[in-house]
Amino acid sequence: MPSADPVQCPRCQLDLDCRGERLSCSCGYSFCMQGGFYETEASEAPEAKGYGEQYYRSAFYDNTDYRISRLALLARADLGIRILDLGCGPGAIAVRCAVLGSQVYGVDISKAALKLSAQRAREVGVRLALFEFDGRSLPFRDSSFNSIIMADVAEHIDDKTLSCLLRESSRLLLPGGRLVLHTAPALEAMRISGLIRKLTLGALDLQSRLTTPEYEHLHIRYHSQKSITSLLKQSGLDPIVWGEVEFLKDRWPWPVQKTLRRLLADQVWALAFKGDHPPVTFPEMPYLDAIDIPADLNMGRCGDEALGGGFYAPEEGSFRWTGKEAVFYLKAREGCSRITMQAAAPHPDLASKPVQVDIYLDCRKVAAFSQRDPDRRTFSFDLPGKLRPGLHKIRLVVDRTFTPMDWGINQDPRALGIIFYSAKVD
Ligand SMILES: [Zn+2]
Repeated sequence: MPSADPVQCPRCQLDLDCRGERLSCSCGYSFCMQGGFYETEASEAPEAKGYGEQYYRSAFYDNTDYRISRLALLARADLGIRILDLGCGPGAIAVRCAVLGSQVYGVDISKAALKLSAQRAREVGVRLALFEFDGRSLPFRDSSFNSIIMADVAEHIDDKTLSCLLRESSRLLLPGGRLVLHTAPALEAMRISGLIRKLTLGALDLQSRLTTPEYEHLHIRYHSQKSITSLLKQSGLDPIVWGEVEFLKDRWPWPVQKTLRRLLADQVWALAFKGDHPPVTFPEMPYLDAIDIPADLNMGRCGDEALGGGFYAPEEGSFRWTGKEAVFYLKAREGCSRITMQAAAPHPDLASKPVQVDIYLDCRKVAAFSQRDPDRRTFSFDLPGKLRPGLHKIRLVVDRTFTPMDWGINQDPRALGIIFYSAKVD
């Protein structure tokens, strides 16, 4: 953990003097604690107009768990990690990082956002250090943070302001520290859905799934993977940038998403490092090398970060269904030479027709099993040699799926492959 108190005067970079509820600088600048956050004495930044309580409380404000957990994961929120949430909005991300043990600072130009953040922190019982800022100069010393999060800020400001905030981020990060950036809807998806609307003469309007007319005026510009990459590079950070399909996930079949992800992306994600970024083992999941992936994967508990696709959501609790093909990632330690999986295939016609499962490791077929006993769960295989330590990709392919609805079992319309519980290499 970076030790010293990181707060300084945003105007002249001098130390602030703390007296009661007030932090003041000899230059005349001061913050005053008000409703759980440090308010500046200047009037609210004009850009804060429109960012009132109503906006943050509206259903349109994206507070999905998928996004919050992913941001916390990429920022490595944990004990000993100091995080700045730059543009913290109503505080859901900052609070999550604090719950995970991080020391969290949040800044925003909107007083309403800061008030909601303070309220949320109080309700959950965590501490956030919250500061109002002018949208440009951040009240912190150089090299103060392990991670900075900028979630859903980029689309709300012009490029000049974004460049300025990215330079500030670069200044505030510790060497080796990282900036986590998320922006949506991505320009890629806006373009392609615009094209589709034109081609179908308005019959298929996917853009309405990407934007909210009521708050669209707050979007200054849509970013692409290219624009974010170029802005991050200009700020002196070393970026890994990728696109994901989330808003329109159910519109594109998985194989199409997988192949055309760059083009169909409705979300832009970036991890940008002060110093060199870690190697990228798998370009389709470029951030895996920068986070902790276990050698022992529990499908019910692991997040999407370890799954490449082809798995159905984990509503079931302790397992996931695969489709015809499913991909996941594991991090092997030194000397691993065996893979063990827990799986089952309750196909209704299993007795007369066993299900074949092929296992590929880094694109090479390494094992296969025939599932004929619905009660058998454990499948263990010796690998051809010792595994290289580090990240590996495992792909499962089943020879056939079944659809419960077609069999009159229930109303589940999915084409199901096998049930997958866990996997490990040792
Ligand atoms: Zn000052």
